[in-house]
Amino acid sequence: SLPISIADIRKTYGNYVALDDVTLDIAAGEFLTLLGPSGSGKTTLLMALAGFVRPEGGLLAIGGRDVTPLPPNKRNIGVVFQNYALFPHMSVSGNVEYPLRLRGVPKAQARQRAEAALVRVKLSGFGARDIAALSGGQRQRVALARAIVFEPRVMLMDEPLSALDKNLREHMQFEIRKLHDDLGVTTIYVTHDQREALTMSDRIAVMDAGRIQQIGAPQDVYRRP
Ligand code: ADP
Ligand code: ADP
Repeated sequence: SLPISIADIRKTYGNYVALDDVTLDIAAGEFLTLLGPSGSGKTTLLMALAGFVRPEGGLLAIGGRDVTPLPPNKRNIGVVFQNYALFPHMSVSGNVEYPLRLRGVPKAQARQRAEAALVRVKLSGFGARDIAALSGGQRQRVALARAIVFEPRVMLMDEPLSALDKNLREHMQFEIRKLHDDLGVTTIYVTHDQREALTMSDRIAVMDAGRIQQIGAPQDVYRRP
């Protein structure tokens, strides 16, 4: 795992300032949560790191290396979205192998690594199943397996549990945190759920109006008025 350095990142849409010179340093292996209301810029910040949004200014570095010139698939970042973004016409294995195939890993080896990732998310033996036949919780596990299969240095998760019901959400919070601890991968997790942030995080960065308003350990952020 590697540290992430975000410095003075700015992104505007017309007159609207989505990211207002955001600066944030994340330690190698840390689990940091971006917490804030809808529209505060959380997704835009993740997408800038992942390479899907081009900032107008500032620096984005992973392990001390500027990643802004790199396309998304060269940044070595695993991404999990709220809506899973799985390919419905592919099997579970096909979905998990996809990032490896994209990177030129031979089929047999990709299959083997996909199965290992599926074991990690407790979907051993599900490889041949259709995505359509899975429950919501299982789909989110497939999305997690796909994000970890190429052993990324960084994981970005954008409200990955918001489509799940309350019990499963709480269970998956625990599972995601455990997966992070097992892999030791630097993780940025986005949520607007304060309890989720408190449960899961090493540190919480509270965002509002394109800025980080507060940052600290969960107990420090919530002791203040
Ligand atoms: P959050 O993830 O905290 O809900 P976002 O990063 O999605 O916030 O959005 C921040 C602001 O930027 C919102 O007001 C949103 O409407 C705006 N925004 C995001 N993407 C675009 C876009 N492609 N075009 C115009 N405005 C956008
Ligand atoms: P789904 O059937 O929706 O795909 P999963 O397979 O992701 O659900 O998770 C189901 C597993 O998680 C079961 O083993 C179940 O016992 C366990 N589980 C679900 N919710 C909780 C919870 N709140 N606390 C503990 N275990 C839970």
